[in-house]
Amino acid sequence: MVMEYNIDEKGYYGEFGGAYIPEMLYPNVEELRQNYLKVMADPSFKEEFDQLLKDYVGRPSPLYLAKRLSEKYNTKIYLKREDLNHTGAHKVNNTIGQILMAQRLGKKRIIAETGAGQHGVATATVCALMGMECIVYMGEIDIARQAPNVARMKMLGAKVVPALSGSRTLKDATNEAIRDWINNPVDTHYIIGSVVGPHPYPDMVARFQAVVSEEMQWQLQEKEGRSTPDYVVACVGGGSNAAGAFYHYLEDTNVKLIAVEAAGKGIHSGESAATSVLGKEGIIHGSKTLLMQTNDGQITEPYSISAGLDYPGVGPMHAHLYKTGRAEFISITDDEAMTAGLRLSKLEGIIPAIETSHSLAILDQKNFKPDDVVIINLSGRGDKDLQNYIDYFKL
Ligand SMILES: *Cc1c(COP(=O)(O)O)cnc(C)c1O
Repeated sequence: MVMEYNIDEKGYYGEFGGAYIPEMLYPNVEELRQNYLKVMADPSFKEEFDQLLKDYVGRPSPLYLAKRLSEKYNTKIYLKREDLNHTGAHKVNNTIGQILMAQRLGKKRIIAETGAGQHGVATATVCALMGMECIVYMGEIDIARQAPNVARMKMLGAKVVPALSGSRTLKDATNEAIRDWINNPVDTHYIIGSVVGPHPYPDMVARFQAVVSEEMQWQLQEKEGRSTPDYVVACVGGGSNAAGAFYHYLEDTNVKLIAVEAAGKGIHSGESAATSVLGKEGIIHGSKTLLMQTNDGQITEPYSISAGLDYPGVGPMHAHLYKTGRAEFISITDDEAMTAGLRLSKLEGIIPAIETSHSLAILDQKNFKPDDVVIINLSGRGDKDLQNYIDYFKL
């Protein structure tokens, strides 16, 4: 089969991807590039990865037929319950994979960057599991805004280092992590939290998250007698939960893919994270992709009520899915997402992460047929967002 939508051997999705990195980072990235597929193909790696996903993360995550939601929208809606994973979201699928990769490459020390703290917590969790040193870079502003996650990381034994430069948020934390990696090329692995960064990261993270659509295939076969749905819907920050949910359906164009971005206070309000609409081609974190930037190429500060969608770019896979039209991109505002999150809570007894609420909100915009099978990737649970829901709805 010709792979039109997955990565090519040079590390590109169409025109997007690659590894645009400073020379000093080249040995680290090259070591990973030369080894990641070999390591992942090793039966002992696969066995340990699968075992941990089962016994530690709690996989497979259920594919749940949401009856009352389906009734309301007059179509058949399944929810892929990534919210039931240990640590409450899909992110741990990737951090488990990467820590095993780091061990196979002989690394002793783990670094990561985090914005809202969710990826930092998922990384600190697997470092505790494996007894490895963990340093998480986080913007000083984010440390102040995300105190519970900072406490979690500390409790798990990680060292949280504030990034004091620039806007003191995610992109500055990323710069600090890259600086650390350049200074510690031999013993350190950098765990990136989404399908972003230089090749091979987008592909490696997508492969670790691909367990999501791998399970969907056999779960749907059991429930519907066919392994392919009509639609798969997922929200996109960097794009890792969407990459995992789309992965095994990428080349099957009978399965329609819907990627949901955060429009914040409105696409053209100046406070948004709708990268596909507002972004232009450029290079961010070592990858050629779509990103929000000023006319002279400076990265614009994104905004969304959900911290996990508040990223100025998308991974190269998603830039390609957008450019080719393989996925439909829909932007959802803060208000639309919050309403959808409350609705799922009341209709199904599931409080979703606000990121996930964006995916749910498309049900008000798209008309599905009664016999369509629609899978929505429920990327995370809403406990972390409770204060936001309380403030918004005056609960
Ligand atoms: C981090 C996060 C996201 C966004 O990240 P992706 O890499 O785009 O998946 C979405 N949902 C939840 C629950 C998250 O924690």
